[in-house]
Amino acid sequence: MGELHALQLLSDVSLRVASSVDLESTLDAVASAVVETLGFDAAVLNLVRGDVVDVVSLAGPGDIKKALHGSSQSLQVWLELLDRSTELSGLRFIDGRSGDDLEGLLSWIPDIAVRDDDLDAWHPRDALFAPLTASSGELLGVLSVDMPRDGRRPDAGRIALLERFALMAALAIDRARLHKQSADTAELFRRTFDDAPLGMALLHLSGHIQRTNTTYAQMTGRPDETLAGVACWDLVHGDDRDLVEQTVRAVAEGHVPVAQGEVRDPSGERWGRATLSYIDGPEGPQLLVQMLDVTDEHRATEVLRARATTDVLTGLQNRAGLSRHLDGLLARPAAAGQSPVAVVFCDLDLFKLVNDTHGHAVGDELLVHVACGIRQELRGGDIAARFGGDEFVLVLDSCEGPTGAIAVAERVRAAVCRAVRVAGGTMITPSLSMGIAVADDGSTAEQLLADADTALYRAKEAGRGRWELFQATMRDEALSRLRLREALRQALSLDQLRLHYQPIVDLTSARTIGFEALLRWEHPEQGLLLPAAFLDELMQGELAAATTDWVVSHALTEAARWPASDGVRPFVSVNVGPEQLARADLPAQIRSALRRTGVEPDRLWVEVTEEALLSAPTQIAALASLRAEGVHIALDDFGSGYAGLLALRDVPADIIKLDRAFTRTLRTDPTSYAIVQAVVALCSRLDKTLLAEGLEDAEDVAAVGELGVRLGQGFHLGRPGPLMP
Ligand code: C2E
Ligand code: CA
Ligand code: CA
Repeated sequence: MGELHALQLLSDVSLRVASSVDLESTLDAVASAVVETLGFDAAVLNLVRGDVVDVVSLAGPGDIKKALHGSSQSLQVWLELLDRSTELSGLRFIDGRSGDDLEGLLSWIPDIAVRDDDLDAWHPRDALFAPLTASSGELLGVLSVDMPRDGRRPDAGRIALLERFALMAALAIDRARLHKQSADTAELFRRTFDDAPLGMALLHLSGHIQRTNTTYAQMTGRPDETLAGVACWDLVHGDDRDLVEQTVRAVAEGHVPVAQGEVRDPSGERWGRATLSYIDGPEGPQLLVQMLDVTDEHRATEVLRARATTDVLTGLQNRAGLSRHLDGLLARPAAAGQSPVAVVFCDLDLFKLVNDTHGHAVGDELLVHVACGIRQELRGGDIAARFGGDEFVLVLDSCEGPTGAIAVAERVRAAVCRAVRVAGGTMITPSLSMGIAVADDGSTAEQLLADADTALYRAKEAGRGRWELFQATMRDEALSRLRLREALRQALSLDQLRLHYQPIVDLTSARTIGFEALLRWEHPEQGLLLPAAFLDELMQGELAAATTDWVVSHALTEAARWPASDGVRPFVSVNVGPEQLARADLPAQIRSALRRTGVEPDRLWVEVTEEALLSAPTQIAALASLRAEGVHIALDDFGSGYAGLLALRDVPADIIKLDRAFTRTLRTDPTSYAIVQAVVALCSRLDKTLLAEGLEDAEDVAAVGELGVRLGQGFHLGRPGPLMP
């Protein structure tokens, strides 16, 4: 057959190779072309597969086919064989007439010489090998042909053609191998992609979806097949859209190789953590989205966050939640027509009393009741927080200024201040004091709360159970209160406090039997100040206890020096305010002062008010024990409060100080007269000593004396003053 035919076959083979016709048929074509055109009797294509070499294609006589088909040899043997072969115009061959040392290496190759003289039979000793090498130089296989035993060798033209066929075969193998590899990779990718528990999507660089896996489709809440071509930012929550679009652009344009972030699904209910990366995929540059569902993680953090900002008892926000909310509102850029933020500071009046009388469980119940009332009156955008023990704060975002805020405060008060039945059946009617402040430009959360608190202070001062709207002038008052506080601190440490003593007189004998100690402040600039100017401030916070201790100890130290007149040593009477009476250590303090000064207990009077007893009912026992030790307990300002007769019954007082209000009107008002008359009778029945306060002239003294009041005190009997040295 001519060389032309050979070239035709060669081009046919190269076409097959180029069009990736399957490997085996290409190799078969190579083998038969070699036999058909180049005059070799048999051609065998051996293919390296791992560390073995398999016979894959054969052309030639049936005997050879039968003998070699499916045979296989180790790569090691082949490499050795090629190594020991001789070079022939770039190919290798085994020279049948060379030594016998090849015998071991060739023993596996069948010798198909039927007759000894058959020159064309297959003899492994006369094989010509064309190694098939990959572009990388790696051995892919060997094309082997047999040569006549007589030593004739193919001419250069044939060898060149054989080399071409070998090259084609190598190309075909190389190509098939690459193809298989990429098919494997693609398959691997497809499987990882489709079945991944991670949501994955391939995007065009434009951000439009090319392909998604099942998980991703599930995350978007849309069927798989509707996703192709959709812009990925159309599959997220509206608020995340812009960010997603910008990120896609940044990655697609190569500004960042990878981006990561969290996005919500369109409903906003589910969260995904997305990684977006630029990849050089099989189909060119693409974007790969990998999305992990982190909804559960988010919910858990939300629960934790909510827990950190929620008041456990009432379910309202706590202080931290309030600050965060208020900060957020105030940091908002001002928008036209938007109503200013208002804060309502609420304080449950006399809550301590409830706790002390009914126990903490009932106290808690009441707080929950208040929280419910507050919550019920809130509108969207408004929040309520429990600020501290019995303090609540409302933050109103839509109240349209002061009048609106006042209206909300009124409604809340109406809702809260209804009688409630608490555990044990007791009915309690809570009372709320409220301070309202409305934000102006530049208000900070701290300032707004402080303003509302200032207004609250005012409301309490004005008698509780009411609201007060903050005014800028109050800020000045708050400031001067702060200054006063600071000055009082100084007063204590610089020893500017004084006690003045007012005589208490036995009306029957007109003799002074004791003195009430009344507090004064020797102010460095303003001179001597009366309690009205400073007592409220002094009796709040940490100064109160120190002051009371100072008064008790100072008064007793003085009393220790008082001499007896007519065999009787005067007593000293000290005032103990409501805040102080609640102190658990007060009785011990008093006892230790008595011991230290050596004053007999029955030379001490402790004056308490009805109000003080109401706010510290638990102290009644403590007072009773002091009384049992001899200390006299005087119920001060009797008749000015609400408890009246109840106090008379419950308080272990042996002295009743009738409030000045009765004395003053005794002679003009028949009702007052009747009341005093009744109280006199009551006291004698209950075995208590009655004292009339505020006796300003002789008529007062005479009037109470006639009614049978035993003791008296007042300007007419003696003004408070420093003791004579
Ligand atoms: P209080 O306990 O009712 O004391 C009597 C007040 O009435 C004293 O005022 C006294 O100066 C005044 N007073 C006495 N006689 C007359 C009178 O005939 N006519 C009039 N118009 N007033 C009279 P003061 O000293 O200004 O004390 C006012 C209040 O301050 C006291 O009322 C008491 O509640 C409180 N206070 C005074 N010293 C202390 C103290 O050491 N501790 C506490 N917790 N409170 C004190
Ligand atoms: Ca008093
Ligand atoms: Ca009094």
